[in-house]
Amino acid sequence: MMWLLTLLATMLGPALIVGDVYPGTGGQGGGVTIALDPPEKLAKAPADGPLPAVTRARGASPPLVVIDPGHGGRDPGATSPFGGTREKDITLALARAIRDDLARSGRVRVALTRDGDSYLDLHDRYAVARRLGADLFISIHADAAPSNDQARGATVYTLSEVASDREAALLAARENAAGLIGGARLSPDPNVNLILIDLAQRESMNVSADFARLLHREAAPVFPFRPDWHRFADFVVLKAPDIPSILFESGYLTNAVDSAYVQSEAGRRQIAEGMRRAIEAHFARRFLPDA
Ligand SMILES: [Zn+2]
Repeated sequence: MMWLLTLLATMLGPALIVGDVYPGTGGQGGGVTIALDPPEKLAKAPADGPLPAVTRARGASPPLVVIDPGHGGRDPGATSPFGGTREKDITLALARAIRDDLARSGRVRVALTRDGDSYLDLHDRYAVARRLGADLFISIHADAAPSNDQARGATVYTLSEVASDREAALLAARENAAGLIGGARLSPDPNVNLILIDLAQRESMNVSADFARLLHREAAPVFPFRPDWHRFADFVVLKAPDIPSILFESGYLTNAVDSAYVQSEAGRRQIAEGMRRAIEAHFARRFLPDA
């Protein structure tokens, strides 16, 4: 990966350590301040425990996408005012539809972070993806705007610049020399770790934004998006520094048409098709010889 080459150059100049002068991409300004949370707020990634099943695919080393059905268990997410369906059930049905469509096509491997009504901590969701060695992470949600029942359409979120720098500092503090980032062993020097993580995260953010644009291009003809369909936010599930990640809001449960659509067989099929087209196109650019 390109960033590894950049990394070698950067390691020779520790004065470049995170501090400021990163060009902002989201209109949030270039200056970055690293603020460390107290240790009790640092979530620890589970190092063991059962991993979800992974579907098979053709080829020698097919890429892996992890689909994360938002919410679950004691966390129901939003509730549709039209019939009372809970977001956690809608996201699971959508995620399964996406997985099944991808599995039928057989070009990429797929795993779900949950395949039942179970509760998962937000950090555990991307920790599962990291342990599986995922190449892409997609968290599925359904939106709610109680004060605007006209709001409609899908939105794609990627991590904001400021949020990622903060998380890079947290992760460096948390994992220190123990982890692996993008195949590079972390250094005993926490300053070098910060550079390593920061570079990996920057590369992931660029790929995430590329995938967001690809998803809109491939899926907008299939299902509706909001006019401002790409937004940046500080979502915990997007913070795996070494896995391109998006959060997909499939539609508004507070809008009668959207609510019915995301719960319908036709809606699930179309969302799964748009996702599959985007995911396969994404990996075709990078890995797939036969796509
Ligand atoms: Zn949600």
